[in-house]
Amino acid sequence: MEKIAQTDKLYTNFYTYEGVVKALNGVSIEVKHGETYGLVGESGCGKSVTVRSLMRIVQSPGRIEDGRILLFLNEEDRQKAVDIVKRSESYMEGIRGNEVSMIFQEASTSLNPVLSIEYQVGESFRLHRMKEILQEAIESLGGQDGSPGGWKGFQIRLLKREQKARKRYDTRAERIEAKIVGIGELDNKVDIKKRHALEKKREKIRKSDGLVQFVKHVPVLRRYYRPVDRIVHRMVVELLEALGIPNPENIAGSYPHELSGGMQQRIVIAIALACHPKMLIADEPTSNLDVTIQAQIIELINKLKETQISSVLFITHDLGVVAEVCDRVTVMYAGDTCETAKVATLFNEPLHPYTKALLKSVPKVQQEEALATIPGIVPNLVHPPSGCRFHPRCEQAMDICKQIKPEVIEYSEGHTVACHLYTAKEAE
Ligand code: SF4
Repeated sequence: MEKIAQTDKLYTNFYTYEGVVKALNGVSIEVKHGETYGLVGESGCGKSVTVRSLMRIVQSPGRIEDGRILLFLNEEDRQKAVDIVKRSESYMEGIRGNEVSMIFQEASTSLNPVLSIEYQVGESFRLHRMKEILQEAIESLGGQDGSPGGWKGFQIRLLKREQKARKRYDTRAERIEAKIVGIGELDNKVDIKKRHALEKKREKIRKSDGLVQFVKHVPVLRRYYRPVDRIVHRMVVELLEALGIPNPENIAGSYPHELSGGMQQRIVIAIALACHPKMLIADEPTSNLDVTIQAQIIELINKLKETQISSVLFITHDLGVVAEVCDRVTVMYAGDTCETAKVATLFNEPLHPYTKALLKSVPKVQQEEALATIPGIVPNLVHPPSGCRFHPRCEQAMDICKQIKPEVIEYSEGHTVACHLYTAKEAE
């Protein structure tokens, strides 16, 4: 199976007053086309930082320090990768929500309480589908057969101006982006300054025409935009309907506080799927939901994976959810990847002591003895343990574990592990 996203030896740090939090310690993961890939581990193990780095939304004081993030989004040539670490922020705005989307942990905090559902879902269409919407609006006014006079003519002329402004924007943005990519590695001050200046220049290009901007801010004239609003409204209602949301017209007009937790999560999923992304990242989408709603959301994501999205990257600390939704899974601990395998292999033949301990701590039906726990807590990543970061909690730790970080080795086909118990055996 071909890859759709890959991180290669990714290091992300957070610069706090207490010191540098080394949140990712060279994380390498691969998500393939057509699969549901899980990232699992205790809270604080770096799952969310990994996907935030993948989307390039690590907030200050965090920073991606080193490594590559490759996206394979070219339909014609699936081997062709874009290293998004080298791309500008404006380029990433075109990728997020369009090619790769994310559902965040808590639906209630992902939605803006003062904006209607229609506005929040419609924003994705306005950001990424505006060219098609403008064309449809012009055609609905009869603009393709010359310009009629009067109000309709005024509307068509303004919509066409906006269309032209967007085409101009695309050409200029592409030219600047090529220069940014051409700079390559940022290993000296001159290149860093040059890139910074180009990014600023790209941010300053206006997507919209000056006259159109003015008209949009004059309430009486803003009516010219109504065909666009009507099309966006129709797209929002169709999307909500397609996701099985009952009474989509009413829901579109409501505000987040009027909806239940489960319905809010469906709206967040609708926003993420509005532009048919190739990959969906779901960051613990079922935490804080009761079990019946959890099951419904998981069923919905599974159904969407079959019909609309190519790949899903699913983050959870719940191994039961992993067993239900994922094809392959990576276990993470303290910013390191411990083990990657197909779900059945991981559950039946776990290799890494941390994976084994995690599996032992899952409650079983008819279990009589007390639930096993992993002694100790996830380490403070300002001063992470030396060598294998799991060694202070590992029952099988050896001397070498305190000194040298274990390499990831392929134990069997598709089953990799980073532990000295296996690297030592491999060397024999
Ligand atoms: Fe335990 Fe050593 Fe393996 Fe780390 S490398 S999991 S400490 S045995």
